[in-house]
Amino acid sequence: MSSHDYDLVIVGGLAGGLSVAVSSLRQGLPLVRIIEEHHHVSFPELVGENELDIGYGECVESIEAVGPDRVLVRTNKQEYRTRCCLVADRRRRPDWEPPIPVTENDRVHIDEIVELDHVVDHDVLVVGYTDHAVEITATVAATGARVVLAAGGMDPTRLSPAGDNLLRRLERERRATILYRSVPDQIGEVDGYPMAYFNDRRTPDLQVDQVVFSSLRETLLPEDVGATDEAMATGLVWFVGEPEGDCVPTTTPGWRAGRDIAAACFPELEVGPEPSSLHRRQRNTGVLEELREEHYNAVITHFEPTHSDLWVLRVKPDQGGTSFVPGQYATLGLGFWEPRVDDAVDPNLDARWDRLVRRSYSISSRIFDDQGYLADEAGLDELEFYIVLVPPTEDNVPELTPRLALKRPGDRIYLGPKVTGRYTLAAVDDPSSAVVLLSTGTGEAPHNAMAIELLRKGHHGPIVSAVSVRQWADLGYMEAHRTLEDRYPNYHYVPLPTRESDVPKRYIQDLLQSDELTRFGVTLHPDTTNVYLCGNPAMIGLPEEGEDGLEFPETLGVVQILTERGFVLNRRGQPGNIHYEEYW
Ligand SMILES: Cc1cc2nc3c(=O)[nH]c(=O)nc-3n(C[C@H](O)[C@H](O)[C@H](O)COP(=O)(O)OP(=O)(O)OC[C@H]3O[C@@H](n4cnc5c(N)ncnc54)[C@H](O)[C@@H]3O)c2cc1C
Repeated sequence: MSSHDYDLVIVGGLAGGLSVAVSSLRQGLPLVRIIEEHHHVSFPELVGENELDIGYGECVESIEAVGPDRVLVRTNKQEYRTRCCLVADRRRRPDWEPPIPVTENDRVHIDEIVELDHVVDHDVLVVGYTDHAVEITATVAATGARVVLAAGGMDPTRLSPAGDNLLRRLERERRATILYRSVPDQIGEVDGYPMAYFNDRRTPDLQVDQVVFSSLRETLLPEDVGATDEAMATGLVWFVGEPEGDCVPTTTPGWRAGRDIAAACFPELEVGPEPSSLHRRQRNTGVLEELREEHYNAVITHFEPTHSDLWVLRVKPDQGGTSFVPGQYATLGLGFWEPRVDDAVDPNLDARWDRLVRRSYSISSRIFDDQGYLADEAGLDELEFYIVLVPPTEDNVPELTPRLALKRPGDRIYLGPKVTGRYTLAAVDDPSSAVVLLSTGTGEAPHNAMAIELLRKGHHGPIVSAVSVRQWADLGYMEAHRTLEDRYPNYHYVPLPTRESDVPKRYIQDLLQSDELTRFGVTLHPDTTNVYLCGNPAMIGLPEEGEDGLEFPETLGVVQILTERGFVLNRRGQPGNIHYEEYW
């Protein structure tokens, strides 16, 4: 019997073994041999593409130690002296049964496909979420059958690289339909054919020609491949599987396998950084599309950047109306799976990856419609929002806006079904009274909707909308407000940029204290004025209820200035003329 020298001998041409072979060759191990007892491997396309060296029809008979740094793998055909041996074969767990009720039918199988030669034009449902399920799916697809893989529970990061790549390839080339998040809850029978019932709304029930369950697999043991105690003691014989104690070096299937072995047996190899599980998940477009389809219920119809970090966007729900009372807010959401515009890393992302992050957003309003008339949002089937990108800081990794930053018209989004909020014009019952709307940044949003509402209803008292921003460029609606002022002499827009050299730095508090509002016909008297405050809580400056009355924050806020002039906070059960909406 001839004997050959190898770096790595892999027993079994399944996904895990093929993955390790490919990655070892790429890392620079020249002599890698796969031993496969059958006459085919799971993913034949990998063989040619990677020039894999495979001994088909070979069975391992023993693995023995030959000194401290070599083992001898003996098969029915040859002997291999090798620096490392990986047993990558796996077998069905003896106690494994399909986890759902199955009506007995000779078209339902575990791990095997029957009458492969005749399945062309057949519909086959594969149920499973592991490498093994991908192997079965690939085998079925290769026969020309139409195959659906119900892979509910699949975590693509747990697949081997070969399994992961092949799955995406099958999907890309439309050779298989992958339902990443669906799993049948029963296999029944209709007219002699298996019927798969799904209890989630994503997937219609499927009648198919065959159902194949992919069983859970287990790692082989040393005695299954004739590995002696001496061979095991060298630490050069590995098994693909879940770690099972110290005596047998096992390695989890997938991405870690090759790395574990390389680190232990081939110190000369330079192993690059492990791809993050997030990166791997995000490559998996099928999963992303399913998650979006499952969670999103609206489309972004308009996305207009005022500048790169400040956007006016409109969102149209798939179903349901968009009625709201000016001043109210809605909820927008995007999945944690969406990419971020910045490099920040969300804490605990892996655990939350398939969830939604939701935030509240005041509903803004166009100022004019396409014909140049005062906008009437009641007639529209979309909602307008005015949103700024929040940058990450040492203490906070913002979750929603860095994801929203990458969205464009046509992209899908989550819109909460309920519009809500008590920050409305309900207290303004005199059309000749003064309404003062004070905001910071995007806190202007509800005030746009409120100002339009007042003007549409013929409010003729003074309406002042003042907004504190850093720069002129941070004023997304400026031009429209100027036109509005031209048309409605009782309307005044007062932008207060704090970081521009052409205007002195003034905050909202300064505007009130300077009595400049009288210029716009506002005397700031509690009997004739309602004041609305929206945005940064520091500008608002809400007091706390102390033992000796109200205790205001150290930094002077607007509520303190107004309270000292006799205004009263409007709170639940306590009507007042100071109304507020804090953004954080
Ligand atoms: C009722 C309500 C209505 C809101 N309406 C709007 C709106 O119309 N437009 C809007 O841009 N935001 C609005 N917000 C804030 C919004 O809900 C999010 O908090 C914000 O978009 C940041 O989300 P994030 O996940 O990216 O960051 P998060 O992790 O939630 O970061 C929160 C931090 O970001 C900062 N921050 C939050 N909002 C702003 C803001 N608007 N401007 C500057 N810094 C901010 C604060 O430091 C805050 O502590 C509203 C909040 C509430 C409660």
